[in-house]
Amino acid sequence: MKPIKMVDLQTQYQNIKTQIDAAIQQVIDSTAFINGPAVNDFKTDLEKYLNVKHVIPCANGTDALQIALMSLDLKPGDEVITPTFTFISTVEVVALLGLKPVFVDVDPDTFNINTNDLRKAITKNTKAIIPVHLFGQCADMEEIMKIAKENNLYVIEDNAQAIGAEFRFSDGKISKSGTIGDIGCTSFFPSKNLGCYGDGGALFTNSDQLAEKLSYIVNHGMQRRYYHDYIGVNSRLDTIQAAILKVKLQYLDSYITARQKAALYYDNAFANEPKLKIPARYAKSSHVFHQYTLQAIDFSRDELINFLQAKQIPAMIYYPVPLHLQKAYQSYVKQNEKYPIAEHLSKIVFSLPMHTELDEEQLEYITSSVLEFINK
Ligand SMILES: *Cc1c(COP(=O)(O)O)cnc(C)c1O
Repeated sequence: MKPIKMVDLQTQYQNIKTQIDAAIQQVIDSTAFINGPAVNDFKTDLEKYLNVKHVIPCANGTDALQIALMSLDLKPGDEVITPTFTFISTVEVVALLGLKPVFVDVDPDTFNINTNDLRKAITKNTKAIIPVHLFGQCADMEEIMKIAKENNLYVIEDNAQAIGAEFRFSDGKISKSGTIGDIGCTSFFPSKNLGCYGDGGALFTNSDQLAEKLSYIVNHGMQRRYYHDYIGVNSRLDTIQAAILKVKLQYLDSYITARQKAALYYDNAFANEPKLKIPARYAKSSHVFHQYTLQAIDFSRDELINFLQAKQIPAMIYYPVPLHLQKAYQSYVKQNEKYPIAEHLSKIVFSLPMHTELDEEQLEYITSSVLEFINK
């Protein structure tokens, strides 16, 4: 059996090595390392794939979130709502820009922002919402867009984990995740569903006005060389990374299918096991399984993880501490504000290996090992 990894980037690379190596070599031969032709080629391909008017590549997913917020003319102290159960980037950039993060609890089934709590968190100072499509499944974007419209709020989708997922509105309209709010942000970190070979990220928008501003901000706020209309940052996608992403984008749908197949294998093995809660599927969204995350019902998740480790099966906890309990963010937490769901989830969730190269032998070994622990 091949060794089991959380994410197997080696096998994935071996399968497309000829194309990737040629793409990288071409950039080196051209020496167009910054804003070379591959950046614009990839941008155009991704616009087509997502069916969105504008993609603005940048250096990483965290920058994408920061640049999105910078484009919205917010003032210090303006409130930005984020779920408390997510990766730190989502809130880090809010605090860095002098804005005020407001945390909201999540849904116990989908792990995504609870829209009832979201409504209650809105004040006269609220300016934006950053829903996160956690683990590869969209938050309830129909309800979130409705709330945003009623309260005149911007919506920035944190789509770092869900590129390629599809959201279905009640009227039947289908949109790719990240293209529904005012701005969508994604990450091409190597282990993400569309990963490059270093850092990378992008912003998506259907607004010509925002797209123009975002494209200046990523490049020092510069419209014409050495004329700076906005305060910007230096956050470009390297040409080599763009060339790699252009190749890998062709495989994204097959990668999604491979992840969904592995998830289904896990589902079938665990669905009738009362001590495990398999990831809920939300009717309005497809699930692209950045992570396959189970909930441990009435047993010690940590003991299971140790048991699996001894059998050379990695398992991870995403995320062990919700944002409102992180030391650096204590000054933003309102007294008496409670987040019972996120706190509970952080104690019982664990994620099994999930990537594009899992084979049946590995899946059988992983699932039978999990069941062996639970039934012993
Ligand atoms: C990975 C990730 C980011 C940040 O992306 P980087 O490219 O690592 O900066 C932001 N939000 C979420 C939910 C992520 O998973």
